[in-house]
Amino acid sequence: MLKITDLTLQTADGKKYPLWNLSLAVPPGQCLAVVGESGGGKSSLAWAALGYPRPGQRVVDGQVLFDQQNMLALSAAQRQTLYFRQISLLPQEAMQCFHPTRRLRTALEELCPSEKRTRLLQRAADLATALDLPAQVWDKYPHQLSGGQKQRLSLVLALLHQPRLVILDEPTSALDVLGQRLVEQVLARTKEEQGSSLLLCTHDLEMAARLADSIAVLYAGQIVELLPAGKLAIACHPYTRGLLASLPRLSRQKQCCRSIPGQASVLHGPPAACSFAPRCPVAQERCQRENPPLRPLAGGQVRCFYPCS
Ligand code: SF4
Repeated sequence: MLKITDLTLQTADGKKYPLWNLSLAVPPGQCLAVVGESGGGKSSLAWAALGYPRPGQRVVDGQVLFDQQNMLALSAAQRQTLYFRQISLLPQEAMQCFHPTRRLRTALEELCPSEKRTRLLQRAADLATALDLPAQVWDKYPHQLSGGQKQRLSLVLALLHQPRLVILDEPTSALDVLGQRLVEQVLARTKEEQGSSLLLCTHDLEMAARLADSIAVLYAGQIVELLPAGKLAIACHPYTRGLLASLPRLSRQKQCCRSIPGQASVLHGPPAACSFAPRCPVAQERCQRENPPLRPLAGGQVRCFYPCS
């Protein structure tokens, strides 16, 4: 379905590499969650997977294939036939994308060609109901809705044509817990009943574990661990362990959740060391002079010289 091979992105000033030599695949009907802190490259990956790098970034190497189609070489006409119908992206800032002086119904109707209008409007109504949006919502202007309502409406539009691949960048960032659960339920049905593939970019490890089949952990533009979602609790990479330890838990009486010390790093050139070394609690001398390769371990893959057991 989606196959990304050795993808490297560079910023326009040539100073940073948001993604470095990244490879991953999203099989048909499966969900791959890409997790990590802000700044690790998740949004850059979401846009590049669509074949449309973010403004200020360019592809310097690698390939993005959707059903053997080179997404990085699409013409404007090809994009128009694919986007929304075959592939949808729900970007992080989707709720800012509605035209401020148009009712939401206009945005919906623009996506409904006349020959399919009745069916698509009914599907939009069904999705809106599943996401707990009132029927009148389409008659409102964007400023009359909350951020959470706009985020759920964006999802309705992204799923309207039952695309085969849905790319989601932080799809629940503006939602409360109930809204998050509704979105998860709709996405789970999209995958299971409709057979769509999902590429879910999120900082929410718990949502990733509930929704995904496999999880890729992204740090400084590189995948540092790739594992089945069911094995997240026994992840081997020190960064994944740090992310898990930072989750708040009601069952923890006195012990606070632990944050990872230091700042997330960005690559400024080919990695000459482990990018996580400055923050890693088990770093050793070798980690400062070599970038570990991604290698198979315990049913997954890990980029670490000294993985946790
Ligand atoms: S390679 Fe070294 S610094 Fe990097 S995560 Fe593993 S132990 Fe830590």
